[in-house]
Amino acid sequence: MVQEPERGLWSRLISLFMRHDEERLEKAILEARAEGEVAADEGSMLLRVLRLDDMQVSDIMTPRTDCHCIPAGTLLPEGTQLIIASGHSRIPVYRETRDNIVGIVYAKDLLPSLVNEKEHQGIIDQIMRPPFFVPETKMVLELLQEFRSRKQHIAVVLDEYGGTSGLVTIEDVLEEIVGDIEDEHDTPQEEHIKILDETHFELSGRACLDDLAELGIVLASDEVDTIGGYLSLTAGHVPFAGEEFVLSGWKFKVLEASTKAIRCIGVEPADGRPA
Ligand code: ADP
Repeated sequence: MVQEPERGLWSRLISLFMRHDEERLEKAILEARAEGEVAADEGSMLLRVLRLDDMQVSDIMTPRTDCHCIPAGTLLPEGTQLIIASGHSRIPVYRETRDNIVGIVYAKDLLPSLVNEKEHQGIIDQIMRPPFFVPETKMVLELLQEFRSRKQHIAVVLDEYGGTSGLVTIEDVLEEIVGDIEDEHDTPQEEHIKILDETHFELSGRACLDDLAELGIVLASDEVDTIGGYLSLTAGHVPFAGEEFVLSGWKFKVLEASTKAIRCIGVEPADGRPA
């Protein structure tokens, strides 16, 4: 009998990729990770890339309720204040209602008006760029291709009735592959953990598992790095406000969450008494 020659990990993975055999591919990556053939974080990234295949824009977008927008007709100095306050570098512009997005203002396009007195009387409509619209059902991999081919970084997401459902940027796609990205304007890591007393804490969804371990809250995972990711993985969905979890002797109660991420979690000893 002729035996298949022993093949290296990468040639095995490549041939499974070529055959689009995702189930076996996922299994091969999990095995390789367990056997130490790929580092834990590399394995997690490969798994996340595979999962991207089934994701739609609605799974990763920032929902409409969390979008910072600006009304058309806003004067440039006022627009500059709004964009600074939002902390974002691109803001959708709407006319009358947020269901009617007519452009995107880029922070960098506001710079000339800061140094040129004459432009102070202008309105943001003069400098906004045309919006790029995508349906919420678009597959994330297709969106990534379109971002690349159009050299765009932001899209306005529309629901099936043509209303605004949210917005999505290239960073939302990258975060699905590499995990949470700390932005220039994101809160520093220490502020993700608020110590109320020795055994009571308030966490943001982005609090790191490693930092929690230092407080005695030990939750180990090869797949995720943050408490938000850990609770989502445990629940199998992004938990809703009010959901509770008892893990490693601690009770975690989701205090605030959007459809996309957990914002705030209360933590106390599971039996109600100090651990
Ligand atoms: P920025 O650095 O301008 O915030 P990124 O592309 O880095 O833009 O996106 C970071 C996160 O902020 C993403 O989750 C994205 O969906 C969200 N985001 C970007 N612009 C806005 C906005 N105008 N309003 C609300 N969220 C936004």
